[in-house]
Amino acid sequence: MASSHTVLMRLVASAYSIAQKAGTIVRCVIAEGDLGIVQKTSATDLQTKADRLVQMSICSSLARKFPKLTIIGEEDLPPGEVDQELIEDGQWEEILKQPCPSQYSAIKEEDLVVWVDPLDGTKEYTEGLLDNVTVLIGIAYEGKAIAGIINQPYYNYQNNEKEKLREHGNEAQAGPDAALGRTIWGVLGLGAFGFQLKEAPAGKHIITTTRSHSNQLVTDCISAMNPDTVLRVGGAGNKIIQLIEGKASAYVFASPGCKKWDTCAPEVILHAVGGKLTDIHGNALQYNKEVKHMNSAGVLAALRNYEYYASHVPESVKNALIP
Ligand code: AMP
Ligand code: MG
Ligand code: MG
Repeated sequence: MASSHTVLMRLVASAYSIAQKAGTIVRCVIAEGDLGIVQKTSATDLQTKADRLVQMSICSSLARKFPKLTIIGEEDLPPGEVDQELIEDGQWEEILKQPCPSQYSAIKEEDLVVWVDPLDGTKEYTEGLLDNVTVLIGIAYEGKAIAGIINQPYYNYQNNEKEKLREHGNEAQAGPDAALGRTIWGVLGLGAFGFQLKEAPAGKHIITTTRSHSNQLVTDCISAMNPDTVLRVGGAGNKIIQLIEGKASAYVFASPGCKKWDTCAPEVILHAVGGKLTDIHGNALQYNKEVKHMNSAGVLAALRNYEYYASHVPESVKNALIP
């Protein structure tokens, strides 16, 4: 049956439901207790059973409904049948009630590229810093990030006892006063939803940065910005959430390491509420399917006062980071 909704809005509505299922999988893996940790390129570059299962779930669920999409996931997995239990077929009806921004209404499935980070903040996930973790589904058109979904499986985690978590594997059962997990979504030209926008304290430079992947360039760059506070937390998705909820004023990562699947969805959410995310030189990031995955020239992002942070990046740092 032909749908009256645009391809983009159907994709966002499906990706929302798929991201919610992903959050459930992330919680179930913890509840079962065996993380199945594999080292990728180094001891700080890890993959767990949750990274693997969630990527299978997201990529297969999307590909079934939208067979012409280009889908690029972080994890290198062997091809094979995906367990039917991992497939999510739902779509979030609230999203389908929203109008598609007119500039995107004629987009065809084959024109879209989806960047999937099945679990952002894996290092922190393995260390029990569960509220750092997000699931990221970013959607790009003509090289630009235009829609994004972020599931935070352990939103409200600090308010929950661990036992409750073990008993109940999902959001609906976590109790009305402490719903565990949330999904944030956004489309450029429409807005971003699923959170309360909050400004960071005025006049303060609260910089959020990596916890597990720091180096001299990262610390040199932050020092040059006269920080009042430096927050070291895991996850690119988590740090963008800090920006939109007023916990940090800038996200500074003057190093390679972060990839397109880390930035695509978070960038949309930030841009949809008036913020800016670029590389450390101020260049926009590109998300066409041929682009190299690494954000070699780092990440710089802010909801307000982006120019202050951009103008304080030292030349020595810029010279060390080639786009
Ligand atoms: P972080 O702020 O350290 O959590 O990094 C944000 C994202 O970039 C995460 O997905 C990290 O895995 C990734 N990342 C950053 N630096 C590196 C690195 N040196 N090696 C592997 N992944 C990295
Ligand atoms: Mg990541
Ligand atoms: Mg990941």
